[in-house]
Amino acid sequence: MAEAKPNILVVEDEPNLHEALKLNLEIEGYEVTSAYDGTEALQKIGSAYFDLIIMDIMLPDLDGISITENLRVHNNEVPILMLSAKNAPADKVLGLKKGADDYLTKPFNLEELLLRVAKLIEKNKKIQIRESVGDQYRFGNNTIDFKALTAVTWNGLNVALSKKEAMLLKLLVENRGEVVTREKILQVVWGYNVFPTTRTIDNFILNFRKYFEEDSRNPRYIHSVRGVGYKYTD
Ligand code: CA
Repeated sequence: MAEAKPNILVVEDEPNLHEALKLNLEIEGYEVTSAYDGTEALQKIGSAYFDLIIMDIMLPDLDGISITENLRVHNNEVPILMLSAKNAPADKVLGLKKGADDYLTKPFNLEELLLRVAKLIEKNKKIQIRESVGDQYRFGNNTIDFKALTAVTWNGLNVALSKKEAMLLKLLVENRGEVVTREKILQVVWGYNVFPTTRTIDNFILNFRKYFEEDSRNPRYIHSVRGVGYKYTD
């Protein structure tokens, strides 16, 4: 599988700096999406997955710190590199406190920014690689074969799984006992920038319950965590 280009959202209202960032990031091989104010940023964040956000603090409408805080409150863990015009230590502390991963003060050295960008993206990738399960996984009467894309259900039926179904199951199982956010599901299973509707994930989950839960109304294995995501327990 060819690796997709990391996708970076640049939130910056100064046109010249924005253009410089975009150009340099593209030369480094990143895919760049632009937002020139906070509202546009939130809208873009809601409609695609990003590997990193470069976020200016001083924006015409919302400020970068509030946007960051808002994302973290909603369990969006996208890495954020904050930019500030002022050399204000208070801003730096507040930004980091509210969930930014790194911080640069303008004017900054472009080389340094690119290095930090690469580091943040790399770190995020590592966090996402979890304990992996083998090709087959058993729980209760159920067996999933992730490689063959088949499963044996709670009542002994053989069913075929789509590739995406198998990927979602694997993601849930590998994070057993932990909530997997919708954001993460979209990123891992659907990949970059091609998002299905929320209903699509719900339909997958409904199918899983039909397959693997004796009582699909009272699931034992596959749980919904309202407004956040899903969790597998055994
Ligand atoms: Ca600004």
